[in-house]
Amino acid sequence: MTAPAAPMASGPLARRISRRVAVNWGARTVHVGGGAPVVVQSMTNTDTADAIATAIQVKALAQAGSEVVRITVNTPEAAREVAAIREQLDRMGVDAPLVGDFHYNGHKLLTQYPDCARALSKYRINPGNVGSGSRRDGNFAQMIEVANLHAKPVRIGVNWGSLDQSLLARLMDENARRAQPWEASQVMREALVTSAIESAQMAESLGMPGDRIILSAKVSNVQDVVAVYRELARRCDYPLHVGLTEAGMGSKGIVASTAALSVLLQEGIGDTIRVSLTPEPGGDRTREVIVAQEILQTMGLRAFTPLVVACPGCGRTSSTFFQELAESIQAFLRAQMPVWKASYPGVESMQVAVMGCVVNGPGESKHADVGISLPGADEAPVAPVFVDGERTVTLKGERIAEEFQAIVEGYVHRRYGRQTVPADPGT
Ligand code: SF4
Repeated sequence: MTAPAAPMASGPLARRISRRVAVNWGARTVHVGGGAPVVVQSMTNTDTADAIATAIQVKALAQAGSEVVRITVNTPEAAREVAAIREQLDRMGVDAPLVGDFHYNGHKLLTQYPDCARALSKYRINPGNVGSGSRRDGNFAQMIEVANLHAKPVRIGVNWGSLDQSLLARLMDENARRAQPWEASQVMREALVTSAIESAQMAESLGMPGDRIILSAKVSNVQDVVAVYRELARRCDYPLHVGLTEAGMGSKGIVASTAALSVLLQEGIGDTIRVSLTPEPGGDRTREVIVAQEILQTMGLRAFTPLVVACPGCGRTSSTFFQELAESIQAFLRAQMPVWKASYPGVESMQVAVMGCVVNGPGESKHADVGISLPGADEAPVAPVFVDGERTVTLKGERIAEEFQAIVEGYVHRRYGRQTVPADPGT
């Protein structure tokens, strides 16, 4: 057997260092790019004209961990309600910055509703949807003018479903003159990148500081999104908002988003992410936030909530008890986080293992901070618990779930509780 030539690489490649954009609301500043942690964001699917429903959903998304929340601003009725939504959020103690998503009429809404322009912390502008022909540049300039007036950053968000058709036609013409023309898909990718970069350059020529511009160029195909963002990362130093557009529903949406984001994040590309899941009817919109957090956490880029490591179960699993315990412990940990975040700093990195039998149970449990190895089919009905790699207690009987949860809670309190400095007796 030959010795390994070099240590195996571990962890993501160096982060691409972009400019840093500050997205502010009140005392809250969310930094995007410039080496700041990758920001999780999401978008509401309520009618923005329904201020109460929108404020409730923004609050839910923010509480789930969305650090920035985007709302659509598509009509005068919606624009009129934006300030009320912001006020309602402030009253509820929700300080997540709001981003307005504009298409077609953003130039009008932002100028006709200055309260809306002020209440938003960032404007998303789609250069493919700001008008056509001679009106395009004027409308775009009007939105940049309002952003400059209120010192708001913008995201120039290109989308292949609404690509600037005049730009695409120009690039198609250029391609036809090439000795060896590119494939149509390559021209489309180039059009996405060019549209984003040229629009950013136009914004800068209109007086917008370069550190108030974020770019995105979303596509719904994983290979396209990877190629486009690699090229954007190579050709500019604006922070990049990364995600698949229309990722899809259920596991398909999660898998496609994870595949694309993992490749890019591993290469150090991506300053803010959104997982654009289609919710199932009646489904919970906050799922996209949890998936985004789990992508970052499982890649070791950020930590949000203690995660449960659980085995998949197999023929050795004696019942569904271990799945139920894994699920209930994960739900318990997630539910505690709003309180634990403040009282137990660092708890978000804790690992808990819930394993189904003796084959991998004790080993995996020893690697976790707290772990339990439940009895498999032919094993004695006892569940050894491991804390910091040491076997501490063996649980049995009807109350294993409650007792294990109490052990986890006690561990959190002991390990992450704030150390109070005793008062100096001399003072
Ligand atoms: S730990 Fe045991 S129950 Fe779980 S998958 Fe492995 S062998 Fe099966």
